[in-house]
Amino acid sequence: MIISFNDFQANLKEVVEKIHASCEKAGRAVDTVKLLPVTKNHPVDAARYAWDAGLLSVGENRVQEALGKMDDVDSRLCWELIGPLQSNKAKKVAERFGRVQTVDRVKIATALDRYAAEAGRRLPVLLQINAGRDPAKSGAELEDAAALLEALLKCESLQVDGLMTIAPLSEDADVARRCFARLRECRDGLSKSFGIDLLELSMGMSGDMEEAILEGSTMVRVGTALFGSRGY
Ligand SMILES: *Cc1c(COP(=O)(O)O)cnc(C)c1O
Repeated sequence: MIISFNDFQANLKEVVEKIHASCEKAGRAVDTVKLLPVTKNHPVDAARYAWDAGLLSVGENRVQEALGKMDDVDSRLCWELIGPLQSNKAKKVAERFGRVQTVDRVKIATALDRYAAEAGRRLPVLLQINAGRDPAKSGAELEDAAALLEALLKCESLQVDGLMTIAPLSEDADVARRCFARLRECRDGLSKSFGIDLLELSMGMSGDMEEAILEGSTMVRVGTALFGSRGY
């Protein structure tokens, strides 16, 4: 089941207003934060809704599920992987996804690099960092971020756009906010020591997008607030 397109448009309007309000609160221009609609666990209509509303990318966290939807939506829609990736799926991912936000170990990076090279493309990626030090979350440890980035920069068929994190679930909004601040500080440190831009900070979801934007998010990944609950 999926909500109607009209309901989706109403939700989208609210989410965009919230993003704009958070940008204003943070003293940031409203066009510095992108919205990534997260269509996982919804039928392919969710991705069509996003495309029809003028959004150019969607996020999915299971490779198989996303591959099953891709052919049924305008081929210009960009699919971003925001869930864990195993090496045995790296070939398909390197061929079909527009970007991978969840590169958290060298083994995955080298697999993606090889298959992207074979496919004759340069694959944009983000480093996923467990900035909240949450044992339940994947992502490289903050301490390992520099070594991982160093390895990634040697992958000629990957393009490192920035960092991504998922905040720990907490009643206390400050927990997420501190996590987002740590990701930004991590990015600033890496950017300085490697002398490169790492412009993308993918952080914030339905429940914590304001905190993320206040700490410098450039992309919020939003599912529930756009498409309703996923029923699990
Ligand atoms: C599911 C998911 C989201 C969206 O979560 P909502 O709370 O539904 O907005 C964002 N990021 C990742 C990595 C996810 O897996």
